[in-house]
Amino acid sequence: MDFEEHYTPEQEAFRAAVRGWMEARLPGNIYVPPDEKPLDQETQARLREFRRSLGAQGWLAPAWPTEAGGAGLSPALTVIIQEEIRRLHLPSLGDNPRWIPSIMTWGTDEQKRRYIPPAVRGELITWLCFTEADSGTDMAAIQTQAVREGDDYLINGAKAFITGQFDPDYLWTLAVTDPRRPQRLNLGVFMIDARSPGITIRTQRLLRGSERFVFFDNVRVSSDCLVGTPYLGWEIAMGSVAGEHGEPPPRVDERGTVASIIQYLKEEREGKNPNRS
Ligand SMILES: Cc1cc2nc3c(=O)[nH]c(=O)nc-3n(C[C@H](O)[C@H](O)[C@H](O)COP(=O)(O)OP(=O)(O)OC[C@H]3O[C@@H](n4cnc5c(N)ncnc54)[C@H](O)[C@@H]3O)c2cc1C
Repeated sequence: MDFEEHYTPEQEAFRAAVRGWMEARLPGNIYVPPDEKPLDQETQARLREFRRSLGAQGWLAPAWPTEAGGAGLSPALTVIIQEEIRRLHLPSLGDNPRWIPSIMTWGTDEQKRRYIPPAVRGELITWLCFTEADSGTDMAAIQTQAVREGDDYLINGAKAFITGQFDPDYLWTLAVTDPRRPQRLNLGVFMIDARSPGITIRTQRLLRGSERFVFFDNVRVSSDCLVGTPYLGWEIAMGSVAGEHGEPPPRVDERGTVASIIQYLKEEREGKNPNRS
């Protein structure tokens, strides 16, 4: 059986055009750390600009209809866009898009308008903030609290091992909305402005990725940041991570992993692995 991928001459012509377009706009001299370390500010700014230009083409959601901000492309042309982006060996381009289907399903019309179009235009960086130091696999045991106060929620807690090479605009955050209710029926998901007062982000050198830690200290968010109802968080969070279970994510790619391990071990031996904040 032939497992080779074959493209038609028209598809190859499309690829050549896409490649030329990307190479003309790609910022030069971009240093991509092999181990998913956070990017410096200048690199972030240049890559954000490139990302916005991809978004303007609809290429961040190539299969979506054009009226929704996509490019309306066939599956084959969508794959070509994805292959050409991957070929550039850039960081993940800064968004964790797993929240988008969840907002589409559970969000209000206003939330869909507020978050999805700017994300598809490449303007938003969103981190997925579910894991805590003492509740990774056992996600139902999270401790971060969201307490209702009038029209707001007050968020307190700490998230650990979060992926984020770019600084975030939003934090897709799982929190306990009522500790008296049974586990899994006591959670809500919030889309929180990452620049809200009371949020602190720290970075700790780890082997690869997941180096960000987010602390919420009396963070006040409007109740319209809650997605779905106060007790639907488990279902929404499961939907958000479902995409990781079986999709072909860039992270299964070996690229950088071996280099990252070697670099990490060298730094360890030389005592150069201080925690950074
Ligand atoms: C590269 C990377 C990126 C990440 N990015 C993010 C991110 O962006 N956002 C985010 O929220 N999280 C992120 N995480 C965290 C990730 O979701 C957690 O690492 C994961 O949920 C596992 O949690 P843990 O590391 O605490 O392992 P643990 O929960 O301690 O589990 C360790 C092992 O013990 C097993 N185990 C645990 N409990 C039991 C039990 N009761 N019975 C039997 N076996 C058990 C597990 O199956 C596993 O094999 C990232 C992690 C990595 C490695």
